Amino acid sequence: MITDEEWQAIKTNDATYDSKFRYAVKTTKIFCRPSCHSRLPKRENVEVFYHLDDPINHGYRPCKRCRPTDAFVSNEEWTQEIETILQNNYQQNLTLEELAYLSHGSESHLRHVFKKVTNKTPQQRLTEIRLDVAKHMLVTTDKPVEKIAMEVGLANVSYFIQRFKHSFHESPKQYRKQHQKTGC
Ligand SMILES: [Zn+2]
Repeated sequence: MITDEEWQAIKTNDATYDSKFRYAVKTTKIFCRPSCHSRLPKRENVEVFYHLDDPINHGYRPCKRCRPTDAFVSNEEWTQEIETILQNNYQQNLTLEELAYLSHGSESHLRHVFKKVTNKTPQQRLTEIRLDVAKHMLVTTDKPVEKIAMEVGLANVSYFIQRFKHSFHESPKQYRKQHQKTGC
């Protein structure tokens, strides 16, 4: 059975319910997120599920449009998860494809949600994390710039320097000189 609240969420494509349930349509054998903009089915044909595997176990196929098999998490939770993945993997050559795989979402959806919540693309955020770590290493270690670039996942050193200058308006060497503790 479907509650009035659930039916209302489906009718209004309310995305806040995407983390709560999926609905399947008996006549088409397809299941969707509440927010899906596909045509509104007849209420008596709708079945609601609260676990992701259930519609599939009942023989329903995921809608191509709303990709309802992505986990039941809110955009904010998911963004937090993506942030953690970025923090833990910035040293690697992390592509959007790999990130999508690690965070269980499609590339376009991931990019869209992350940007919506943080105002940055995942790649921009990744570069930001890398440059922050680099800044810290420049000040706290004597490692050469090339090695730091490599260790933060930006093996192309000229690209690293270019990004660094773009973000902080000075070169890594200038930054080091300005901020590294002197004496003793
Ligand atoms: Zn759908």
